[in-house]
Amino acid sequence: MTDCLFCKIAAKEVPARIVHEDDDTLAFEDINPQAPKHLLVIPKKHIPTLNDVVPEDAPALGHLFSTAALLAKQGGFAERGWRVVVNVNRDAHQLVFHVHLHVLAGRPFHWPPG
Ligand code: 5GP
Ligand code: ZN
Repeated sequence: MTDCLFCKIAAKEVPARIVHEDDDTLAFEDINPQAPKHLLVIPKKHIPTLNDVVPEDAPALGHLFSTAALLAKQGGFAERGWRVVVNVNRDAHQLVFHVHLHVLAGRPFHWPPG
């Protein structure tokens, strides 16, 4: 996917503050943080939205969550609490069409979400 921003970040063609990388996953700081801690965790594979996930993607998506949990422990916010958000398409305000977990922490979050 040549014109995908997050593929470009994964390929190091666009700079980002990367906090974790392995064979399947990349995590980096959101450029416009909505909480004191706001990370994005992405699969290196280009998947536009959760609507496009197929059963073969299950291990990669599971790995996204275990990476998020690792980052929560390493970041010291696991016990206090944190939130994971995945926006899908326009009603949810998805702007970048490459699946990503928003990992938010460092303040209380409201429920129901806005
Ligand atoms: P979405 O609205 O698609 O769920 O979330 C996209 C996220 O990507 C937003 O939180 C936005 O701030 C972030 N973002 C957009 N462009 C960039 C960028 O160039 N670098 C980084 N690090 N984050 C970005
Ligand atoms: Zn992509």
